[in-house]
Amino acid sequence: MPDAPATRNHSAAAEPKLTIGVLALQGDFDAHRRRLEELGAKVVLVKKPSDLDAIDGLVIPGGESGTFLKLLGEDGFDKLRQFVRLKPTFGTCAGAILLAKEVENPRQAGLGAIDIVIRRNAYGRQIDSSIREGKLLQSNGDPPADSPIEMVFIRAPRIERVGPGVEVLATESGDPVAVRQGRAMAATFHPELSEDTRVHQAFLDLVLEAFRN
Ligand code: GLN
Repeated sequence: MPDAPATRNHSAAAEPKLTIGVLALQGDFDAHRRRLEELGAKVVLVKKPSDLDAIDGLVIPGGESGTFLKLLGEDGFDKLRQFVRLKPTFGTCAGAILLAKEVENPRQAGLGAIDIVIRRNAYGRQIDSSIREGKLLQSNGDPPADSPIEMVFIRAPRIERVGPGVEVLATESGDPVAVRQGRAMAATFHPELSEDTRVHQAFLDLVLEAFRN
């Protein structure tokens, strides 16, 4: 007898129980923790480089990317660079800046996990923090239409160039605002501050896929 189809509806994180780290040096890490737990993941807060050894995927939250670099130090940065090449990582806002190949305004080091050029604080003072409606793109045509999604931007960076190996996952006013390359995913907005769980679920699906391969 085949298994009852009901088991298919489990969230991706439920089986097996994935352990997701949230970088907790500074910034907005607790909202990510709550969201990931809500979706069934086990969450650990990553405070030192060796914490990376015990996790299946990592979220790098918003905050101040220059401060992250300082707090990581050279050793932390190197360890993180190795991690993002092997395991799924999702960076939001400052986290997206850290994952980029090139960072402008001012120039600073990026982990190079996603082939994008990203410009910090790119929207100017007046509209630097806002809630807008963007589009979540469907790569597999299921459902066929792109769907609207709320996006919270806080002193957001802008993705200025997307390399050929990078998939655009979401747009706002025609600009790419969520992207993926291999196992790394980035969003310039803050999905942890909206009710909609689809962006975190997409990341957990990525972690599950990597876990199985
Ligand atoms: N402006 C911050 C930076 O440049 C990012 C802001 C955020 O993470 N909300 O690092």
